[in-house]
Amino acid sequence: MEPVRYRIDARDHLTAVNKSWAAFAAANNGVGLDPAEVIGQPLWRYLVGEELRHLFELLLKRVRRTQQWVVLPFRCDGPGERRFMQLEVHAYPDQSVDFVSRLLHAEPRPPVAVLGPGGARTQERLRICSWCNRVNLSQGKWVEVEEALSHLGLFSDRDLPQLAYDLCPTCEVEFRAGLPPGEGD
Ligand SMILES: [Zn+2]
Repeated sequence: MEPVRYRIDARDHLTAVNKSWAAFAAANNGVGLDPAEVIGQPLWRYLVGEELRHLFELLLKRVRRTQQWVVLPFRCDGPGERRFMQLEVHAYPDQSVDFVSRLLHAEPRPPVAVLGPGGARTQERLRICSWCNRVNLSQGKWVEVEEALSHLGLFSDRDLPQLAYDLCPTCEVEFRAGLPPGEGD
């Protein structure tokens, strides 16, 4: 797959996305992610989870100040595929920022229904890390989604829990470590 490229202006509004944006959104059950509709929208609409948005605020602040390239590994799994990705971020003097999201490699797996589209969901909430896609099994323990479902006995597609997007402690630390140095922010 071609890398997904998008650009924001100084006010964090999307000013350009490439064709892969649409393919990528479709593969992830994205709704309303037609490239024609996203231009002019704030980037923040497309970032899931408050914790992740917080780290992106920090990321944008630092790349805009330093103009340094930042490369961050992440996961963006689909139900039937683990996707190992890399996000490259580069800021320009006018404070616009380019993002390039590349697929490094993918591993097929039997589809995991909980990561699929909507359907009826129980009141149960499964905490999932927006950045590495691991799931919180118990206090402090984050595991691959298959392992979590097996432990929790969630085999039936009829009893799918809701996903609550969060950030695991490992990603929090690694994300921050991958940023240019800050000045007390
Ligand atoms: Zn994580």
